[in-house]
Amino acid sequence: MNAHPPHIWTDWQAQQRAARISSADLLAAVGLSAADFPAGVIAAPEFPLSVPPHFLSLIRPGDRHDPLLRQVLARGEEAAPQPGRLTDPLAEADYRAAPGLLRKYRSRALLIASGACAIHCRYCFRRHQDYGETMLTRSREAEALAAIAADSLIDEVILSGGDPLSLPDARLAALVTAIAAIGHVTTLRLHSRTLTTIPDRVTPALLALLAGTRLRVVIVAHSNHANEISAEVAAALGRLRAAGITLFNQSVLLAGVNNDAATIAAHCRRLFAAGVLPYYMHLTDPVAGAAHFDVGEAEARRIEAGLRGLLPGYLVPRFVREVPGREAKTPLADLS
Ligand SMILES: *Cc1c(COP(=O)(O)O)cnc(C)c1O
Ligand code: SF4
Repeated sequence: MNAHPPHIWTDWQAQQRAARISSADLLAAVGLSAADFPAGVIAAPEFPLSVPPHFLSLIRPGDRHDPLLRQVLARGEEAAPQPGRLTDPLAEADYRAAPGLLRKYRSRALLIASGACAIHCRYCFRRHQDYGETMLTRSREAEALAAIAADSLIDEVILSGGDPLSLPDARLAALVTAIAAIGHVTTLRLHSRTLTTIPDRVTPALLALLAGTRLRVVIVAHSNHANEISAEVAAALGRLRAAGITLFNQSVLLAGVNNDAATIAAHCRRLFAAGVLPYYMHLTDPVAGAAHFDVGEAEARRIEAGLRGLLPGYLVPRFVREVPGREAKTPLADLS
């Protein structure tokens, strides 16, 4: 069923380019049709489809409920009227400290290192962003780095996006070198969905670059279901671990993907087997077009309690919601 056997793809940038796919081709690749979805499928959505070949190969053919397919297929539900839902649900525009730099929390600064992602997740809270305005570009880099250098409270710089691992190695290396030159920064963190969607991104050059910096390196992988942690993904994560990098995973609690304790427990165990600890389980943000992924707070509390019975404490992710204006992410238990 898969038009692109994963083994022929070794060039990660070619995989990134090959990820653009039409709704019709995605459905054909997994042996389904629009008629399998009660609210239909959007043929040409404004936020276009993007599904890297490796991720596509992990979708079970013929299963319209497949949890990976649900994350990438533009279903008719996206077009339903969604009153009260926002295009910038986190009010991120309020936290722009310099172009490309978000400063919400005291000790950590976040760089929007890239506006691109290999995969397009239908639940994405940044799906409506015009990255042209907010992204870090080479010409704006100096201003953002100067703002970090001027503030000694910042000891951790987070590369996010979009996806920072969609950048070529040379650009990433230049950025890491510039950050390492700021004396009070001790830790470099990358948030990336690429590790689990294009595991070939973990090239020897990337490993050398991350192992070679004076900074402590933390990577927070983004994945939502055990089926995403293939043997290839586990091997890529293992290479990062062997290079001395600390690995975490964050997920989004998504209806129809991972909204039950047994599914999350299986995912957390698979992650741990690959040397990765669960970090956050995010409740969805009220972004327009993604209401069909929402899991209510009451259900989230039941799932969290269920997980405590299934997993050792160190494998239970922290259930949180992003509340604009707070000093840190808010634990589910503290939400009213
Ligand atoms: C989530 C986030 C961080 C990191 O928060 P941690 O709790 O340290 O993971 C930093 N900056 C912004 C803007 C964030 O949204
Ligand atoms: S990888 Fe992250 S930023 Fe990119 S589309 Fe998915 S959720 Fe959004």
